[in-house]
Amino acid sequence: MSNDTPARGDLFLLSAPSGAGKTTLIRYVTARLADSGELHFSVSHTTRRPRAGEQDGRDYHFVDEAAFRRMIDAGEFLEWAEVHGQFYGTSRRAVLPHLERGADVVVDIDVQGAERLMRGFPQAHSVFILPPSYAELVRRLRGRGLDGEPEIARRLADALDEIARYDSYQYVIINDDVERAGRALAAIVLEKRHRRERQEPRIAGVLADFERARGSDAPS
Ligand code: ADP
Ligand code: 5GP
Repeated sequence: MSNDTPARGDLFLLSAPSGAGKTTLIRYVTARLADSGELHFSVSHTTRRPRAGEQDGRDYHFVDEAAFRRMIDAGEFLEWAEVHGQFYGTSRRAVLPHLERGADVVVDIDVQGAERLMRGFPQAHSVFILPPSYAELVRRLRGRGLDGEPEIARRLADALDEIARYDSYQYVIINDDVERAGRALAAIVLEKRHRRERQEPRIAGVLADFERARGSDAPS
């Protein structure tokens, strides 16, 4: 898709400090909105090692640095960035074909990458997730039990710089409660789905049905 070809689906950029709940909220919304359309999760490439329970191709495409650099050189990324000492990137094929087929796409992305994509895709919708407090972020990172203490310390050290950039985003959700925050994110996605332009194909079907009824023996 070039930027002058209107995408059929909407693109959502979701950022937050690590542990604030992006993955949890994306799963919540994807499951709850399935009956009104697909919210496709863009699977990024990363050089970081998989955590326990993470699956290659579902959570990330896990690659080594040489492979990541080859993808950069081949122009395969829409954006990439170094985050917490590792490379992360959103490939073109993780996003563009899905928008073109009409799915909404959500990208879990750090603040640098999001700012880059906002420039390339001004039509993207950007959402920042805040934890309710520092202490709660610490609790969630430790409670998740997937990162060692040095890695947690690094993520906490980066958190203040990340949250300071909340004002580049259009929407902010404070994730104090999964249900409440999940409903807020779902409302943002649903609102986009109900814009008139997105509804035009369905509207055309309803209008055609009325035209057909008028031309036949419809009850008066
Ligand atoms: P991220 O993807 O932003 O790094 P996760 O979705 O993995 O964060 O969430 C980090 C941890 O916090 C997980 O153990 C998750 O279950 C927990 N969590 C997420 N949202 C909430 C919430 N509103 N209240 C309590 N725990 C939460
Ligand atoms: P984690 O290692 O906790 O999964 O993610 C660390 C950080 O990398 C998070 O801020 C996450 O949003 C970000 N991230 C994940 N995928 C991408 C991506 O494709 N591009 C960029 N720029 N950041 C990403």
